[in-house]
Amino acid sequence: MARNFNFSAGPAMLPTEVIERAREEMLDWNGSGMSVMEMSHRGKEFVSIAEKAEADLREILSVPGNYKVLFLQGGASSQFAMIPLNLLKGRNKADYLNTGMWSKKAIAEAKRFCNVNMAGDTSGDNFTTAPDQDALNLDADAAYVHYTPNETIGGVEFGYVPETGEIPLVADMSSTLLSRPVDVSKFGIIYAGAQKNIGPSGLTIVIIREDLIGNPADGIPTMFNYATHADAGSMYNTPPTYNWYIAGLVFEWIKDRGGLSAMAETNQRKATKLYAAIDDSAFYANPVAENARSWMNIPFTLADPSLDGEFLSGATKKGLLTLKGHRSVGGMRASIYNAMPEEGVDTLISYMQEFEQKNA
Ligand SMILES: *Cc1c(COP(=O)(O)O)cnc(C)c1O
Repeated sequence: MARNFNFSAGPAMLPTEVIERAREEMLDWNGSGMSVMEMSHRGKEFVSIAEKAEADLREILSVPGNYKVLFLQGGASSQFAMIPLNLLKGRNKADYLNTGMWSKKAIAEAKRFCNVNMAGDTSGDNFTTAPDQDALNLDADAAYVHYTPNETIGGVEFGYVPETGEIPLVADMSSTLLSRPVDVSKFGIIYAGAQKNIGPSGLTIVIIREDLIGNPADGIPTMFNYATHADAGSMYNTPPTYNWYIAGLVFEWIKDRGGLSAMAETNQRKATKLYAAIDDSAFYANPVAENARSWMNIPFTLADPSLDGEFLSGATKKGLLTLKGHRSVGGMRASIYNAMPEEGVDTLISYMQEFEQKNA
């Protein structure tokens, strides 16, 4: 059996140990005689799986007691609507930082519900920087401030958490949650689609401060109301049970490896060496400002784009998969989430050097 190094931005690699454990437990979970897929979400077996996953996630992220952790469906993209629907509370404006493709999508959705104040905007430099705190133009009447700490497509990451005073800060952490420790108490809401760094697609994690729950827009659909899910322990309806279970295995895997500071150390080392390989070469380039470079998603271009196809097919032959860049950016993109072994990054760097020697 060969496990390739898959650099997909999402759905992305999962730790091999997690998939092996799922295989072992596939037909008979813990002597229950059932697969997790076959369990009632209200049965004691699944309830124990769900509770352990939440407890482990709370532990690795040090989630304070006044936050709910929700296990939802609908992807991060549903949150683009749920956030204004639940947080505007009669106000008519919200602050958004426009730093790339994902924040653009969040902004477009928010505009259906309120006035959007562009409190930061890096479209002028083609989304290759993160705005400084000093450059933010926050509106004192905004219901909340939304930003995207890691822009998965552009490979742009904030090196700091914006200071927003009393105004709740909302973060789309889809592609960075669990990559390093984070001070949850600085946020009103943290949300993430699971398929980048948490588990399989189909699960969305929402970490929300309790005082932000319970005052939604009039006529809000039941399933779009955070209170529905918070009151029911994310079991108002059938949750994505198998995905919840796999995410739980990932949380255990992170704990076994020393938690988020250990993840951070490995992730930083992986990213640093890949950026160094790009910067040390005249053949590869990454356009992002040094203080805004993502640890998770690293786009790079070849000096001669007509070689892109050859680069990709050679990479595939070496078991380096899904390196093609997003269609909006072109070139290559290496997504190196927690589950990408350091060996995968080393193998990519060797291949890049080999390819450059042959073609430069
Ligand atoms: C992938 C991604 C999304 C979209 O997630 P879905 O779960 O597919 O809706 C949103 N924001 C960011 C930052 C992402 O990386």
